[in-house]
Amino acid sequence: MPDKKMVDARCPHCGKNLMDETQISRETTVHLLAKQSWGEQFHLYLSSIWGNFKTKTVPEQKIEKGEKLELYCPHCKEELPKFHDSCMCGGKIYQILNKLGLFGNVFFCSTVGCRWHKMQNEQIPTGKTPSGV
Ligand SMILES: [Zn+2]
Ligand SMILES: [Zn+2]
Repeated sequence: MPDKKMVDARCPHCGKNLMDETQISRETTVHLLAKQSWGEQFHLYLSSIWGNFKTKTVPEQKIEKGEKLELYCPHCKEELPKFHDSCMCGGKIYQILNKLGLFGNVFFCSTVGCRWHKMQNEQIPTGKTPSGV
């Protein structure tokens, strides 16, 4: 199952690689910028393993369960694309690309502790193809 681990996560805006050498559970991570509702910004690292919800923050940040984060690309600083519906928990559902031969879309809720996520192997509807490495 190639989808058990994200090996090439990309920003849907600029197409740049979001994978980072920072490790969680001895695996590479997906690097994003996060913003708390009161404007505090920090780096957020998500496990690249499907179903592993461990995160790391730099600088170390207290994020409470149930807190709703805004997520941005660390390269182009754009807020990640949001799914038209919000999560059942009221949080935003963000999209990143999982480029592994085919383009896959990964959707996940940005609420801390919410486990809603989904992977879809669909062509990106915008017609914009992320540039190569
Ligand atoms: Zn970007
Ligand atoms: Zn949620």
